[in-house]
Amino acid sequence: MSDAPSYSIVAPVYNEAGNLRRFYAEVVEALDPLNEAWELLIVNDGSSDGSHALMLELAERDSRVRVISFARNFGHQIAVTAGVDYACGRAVILIDADLQDPPAVIPRLIAKWKEGYDVVYAVRSERIGESALKKMTAKLFYRMIHRITDINIPVDTGDFRLMDQRVARVLRQMREHRRFIRGMTSWVGYKQTGVQYVRERRVWGETKYPLRKMIAFALDAVTSFSFFPLQIMIYISFILAVLSLIVGVVISALRLTMGAEFFGGQATTIVLLLLLSSFQLFFLFIIGQYVARTYDETRDRPLYVVASTAGFAEARDPRPGGASDNYRREAAERPLADSESEAVQRAG
Ligand code: UDP
Ligand code: MG
Repeated sequence: MSDAPSYSIVAPVYNEAGNLRRFYAEVVEALDPLNEAWELLIVNDGSSDGSHALMLELAERDSRVRVISFARNFGHQIAVTAGVDYACGRAVILIDADLQDPPAVIPRLIAKWKEGYDVVYAVRSERIGESALKKMTAKLFYRMIHRITDINIPVDTGDFRLMDQRVARVLRQMREHRRFIRGMTSWVGYKQTGVQYVRERRVWGETKYPLRKMIAFALDAVTSFSFFPLQIMIYISFILAVLSLIVGVVISALRLTMGAEFFGGQATTIVLLLLLSSFQLFFLFIIGQYVARTYDETRDRPLYVVASTAGFAEARDPRPGGASDNYRREAAERPLADSESEAVQRAG
């Protein structure tokens, strides 16, 4: 099995019927001039709009197109994960199917990879056609994540990126359920670099990331890579303790000098009580977020359920350490480095 493709393009799809044909055409246009073998892995994340039929049609027409179809909608990050699990190329490229990440940028990612980088992420120098709210929250989000996490997650960078197969192999070992793929690829390490691009407007359809999902995603990102929200409580408790000491002294002094009626009102007490309980509930919520995620991980359910696949010439085993890993190891251009993590060696 030495006919591994050079590149695996992974595209998650949830109701993108109006984009698929053009997306496929642009991928072909970007990759064919390179004269290297590639495969396009489309992950159908429970689409209900005819996207599936379109994918099958593309796979029928072009033997390089493969389809992995989920039993239901599992979410964008999980769909990307499945694509990486199945990818056999020497390099794996993650890209959205709505043409917001232009396939024309892929050759630039590949050029950097050929210079010897293991992860080449695409940095959004500009975002076209997105609401001011989305731009502002995204900007804030990336900067906050960058600040409070211990690993170096580059700002203004989505999942559009290229990773060497050896990075993909480490990702396959990381079976956490709440996934923040861009953080996880940063976590792996090796040589990483960025390439600037302009994020285009969506060609067809609407974003599948309404505010509610973005908040959930941000929570996953923070809890996956930081304990900052838990640690901040100790500072707040110190500040409140010092404050209460000062207020205690001041009130005692006032009472001694100006009489017993001073600070006799209940309003202050009630307001303070409500303020402090809201603080406490807020931090209970934060602790709850970590506890719920711990529970999620201990149940250890599979990350996704595949209903059907199409376009695969040979059976592929997506499990980490499964049969296809030997195939993937053959596919990896560089020999395994000594520094590669113990986990990977055990699985290989
Ligand atoms: N997507 C998916 N499952 C989901 C939501 C989105 O596979 O539950 C896909 C979607 O089809 C697209 C990509 O993930 O190819 C990015 O989604 P979207 O464009 O809605 O996100 P945005 O670009 O607005 O952040
Ligand atoms: Mg999009």
